[in-house]
Amino acid sequence: MRIDPHTHSTASDGTESPAEVMRSAAEAGLDVIGLSDHDTTQGWPEAAVEAADLGLEFVPGVEVSCQRAGRSIHLLVLWPSGEDPDFLAMIERTRVARVDRARQIVALLSEDYELDWDRVALRAENAETIGRPHIADALVDIGAVSDRDEAFVSLLGTHSPYYRPHYAPEIADALAVVRAAGGVPILAHPGAEGRTLVSDDVITDLAARGLVGLEIDHRDHSEAQKARLAGLAQRLRLIRTGASDYHGSGKKNRLGENLTSPEAFEALREVRG
Ligand code: AMP
Ligand code: ZN
Ligand code: FE
Ligand code: FE
Repeated sequence: MRIDPHTHSTASDGTESPAEVMRSAAEAGLDVIGLSDHDTTQGWPEAAVEAADLGLEFVPGVEVSCQRAGRSIHLLVLWPSGEDPDFLAMIERTRVARVDRARQIVALLSEDYELDWDRVALRAENAETIGRPHIADALVDIGAVSDRDEAFVSLLGTHSPYYRPHYAPEIADALAVVRAAGGVPILAHPGAEGRTLVSDDVITDLAARGLVGLEIDHRDHSEAQKARLAGLAQRLRLIRTGASDYHGSGKKNRLGENLTSPEAFEALREVRG
């Protein structure tokens, strides 16, 4: 059983449609595939139909943007109800804030580059959730950078003068909303240095607030981070997961490069109930 529960489509900042992600998953020899776009459930129906056609088990998910003391934390949520009003309101509020924030970043960039909002909107055409990768694509279109990676290093990183943050719920609040909506919350890449690094103390606190898993096997983690997180998972009884965090051609991450074990997946399913 090859299980990859964390990927993105054009519903957020991936480059393949939900159905294309499912077809790519079949080609990569996966048996279970999750779609977890940022702050949206938009891709689920299309992905579910395609996965069924291909004989794959589909896991509906959302990567919920959160924060703790102003620092970004990503919460991978598997199987939340797509009809829970509080959950839907929470992610909608973030999506709305993301549009405002993208407009701020574009306004700043347009003072120095031939960039305008229409170019970015075109690149985010199919997305319910806009993000910096769409701005990066527009910067590629005008020849300012050669790819998304270069855009993040040079103009869109958190230390860039063009960077602006967006509203996101406090992680403790988000955990409560997610659990009430039947979702199984896993900290996404909590060992990604310089991006979404989460400390031992914070993970310990979140474990007491209903956190279920830690995404340990992820491309952005060093061996030292994996060892730290494995120790925490054991001590706090958190389920160890792994995933590709595939974004199509938008990132180097390849489907199936990191997996969740069948035992861990069964344990997650038991929490789902
Ligand atoms: P945002 O959600 O708008 O803050 O943008 C962050 C998103 O950009 C994350 O979901 C990442 O997957 C993506 N991202 C971060 N760094 C890079 C990079 N170097 N190349 C491509 N995508 C990236
Ligand atoms: Zn992303
Ligand atoms: Fe993430
Ligand atoms: Fe992700």
